[in-house]
Amino acid sequence: MRPSNIRNACRSGLLQRLSVEKCEWCNTTKGPFEVHHIRKLKDLKGKSEWEKAMIGRNRKTMVLCRRCHKDLHAGRLD
Ligand SMILES: [Zn+2]
Repeated sequence: MRPSNIRNACRSGLLQRLSVEKCEWCNTTKGPFEVHHIRKLKDLKGKSEWEKAMIGRNRKTMVLCRRCHKDLHAGRLD
């Protein structure tokens, strides 16, 4: 990715999505919301559905409600 693309992604992407206030996994609009952030898409194994979703959308961040975020880290989001 070129630097200009990264800048654009930062400016247009994350803040806008957070302001939508919807979990990108279960679609709930009940907060609070947290952002799951990975360092590299390559770090994802693509074994679980949420990893496939991130890889498919080519995104390193995912806005999740607290419950989904907790489940993700517990390894039981799917
Ligand atoms: Zn959720």
